Amino acid sequence: MICADAALKIIRSAVPPCGVERVPLCESAGRVLADDLPARADNPLFDYSSMDGYAVRARDTTGSTSRRPARLKLSGRIEAGEETRLRLRPGEAIRILTGAPMPSGADAVVMQEDVERLEGEIRVKAPFKPRMNVRFRGADIRKGQPLLAKGLALSSRDVALLAGQGFTRVPVAKRPKASVVSTGSELVSAGAALPFGKIRNANGPGLAAALASAGAQVRDWGIVGDDIRELRRVFRRSLFGADILLVSGGVSVGDKDLTRAVLEELGMKTLFWKVSVKPGKPLLFGMRGSTAVFGLPGNPVGAWVCFEEFVRPAIDRMLGRSPNPLGPWHLKGRAENDFEPDGKRRQYVFCRVRQDEGGFLLRLISRQDSGMMGMACRADALALVPEGIRKVRAGESLDFRLIR
Ligand code: AMP
Ligand code: MG
Repeated sequence: MICADAALKIIRSAVPPCGVERVPLCESAGRVLADDLPARADNPLFDYSSMDGYAVRARDTTGSTSRRPARLKLSGRIEAGEETRLRLRPGEAIRILTGAPMPSGADAVVMQEDVERLEGEIRVKAPFKPRMNVRFRGADIRKGQPLLAKGLALSSRDVALLAGQGFTRVPVAKRPKASVVSTGSELVSAGAALPFGKIRNANGPGLAAALASAGAQVRDWGIVGDDIRELRRVFRRSLFGADILLVSGGVSVGDKDLTRAVLEELGMKTLFWKVSVKPGKPLLFGMRGSTAVFGLPGNPVGAWVCFEEFVRPAIDRMLGRSPNPLGPWHLKGRAENDFEPDGKRRQYVFCRVRQDEGGFLLRLISRQDSGMMGMACRADALALVPEGIRKVRAGESLDFRLIR
């Protein structure tokens, strides 16, 4: 049995990166950038007005008051999108609308609220400083400077940035092809009859959803009973062309736990089996050629925790996704109640979280086991109790992360 950190190290060094593809910008949200992108253009592209008002030379308004306003001759008008290039001479003002390019010679925009408008002239009742209400070329981004870094998962604001820069396609990591197989002779899929003793397949749909959320393309191979020949047949087919295979069930030490033996027979090299964590102890990981193979516990909560702790980092690695600089356990909270953890293994503890003046408070759910998906879904945080801790006392600080 190895510890969680050693397991993660093995996973990270074993899984190969996926290839690169170029996708239309409008389909790029959530994808991981495969290259550093430099800026293609200044932002703003040109000096422009951020207000409806009047473009002026600031120094023409020096000393003006409502008693003695500066009188400026109106010499033109310019709207957003107009291609005309106007020139402002001393003593003049040009009517300008939001987004319109500044006329040359002007260095400020006076808001229309601060102006009295007469026939052919305006009266400015207060002095204006240069740069007021003007957005200057390149103030935000300069052409050629680094824009977005390789490894970033593109958000909607990144998409807006790239669109503003004129990108139509972006290089991103290919989505890994993932297969899911749910093993267990007791399993029945949704919609089918449910004789006594059988249970619904929770892991197939759950793991498929988790894979999709991590950025993989999923093929769900459904249910396979605990039968060597059936397992052999479905594993062989589901491995073909897959970057990653998730098998749930049959990885413990029971009579009917056949997953590892069959996978090894098909050429999988086991890199570890059993990790010192709770839930999730029977976790199996191996490589078969370039396909990463995970054997996840059949218990749905264990399968989910193992996915989040071990499979998601594997997929992040395939995608070349940069790690969160704050780490996976970036929040701290105080336990609200005593809790008796496993003691030996690292334990992932489901919690309800709330806040008071002192920060986050974690209510550690007292009855939790790996079959209780209802409990897991009532939780909104997962806390980390390191191995060797025999007792968590109310008031003690724990690392956690939100899972809602
Ligand atoms: P196993 O890891 O195969 O020993 O299964 C452990 C427990 O998880 C057993 O109670 C199984 O019935 C249950 N289980 C296994 N696979 C699934 C599944 N896909 N959905 C729901 N429960 C499962
Ligand atoms: Mg089983």
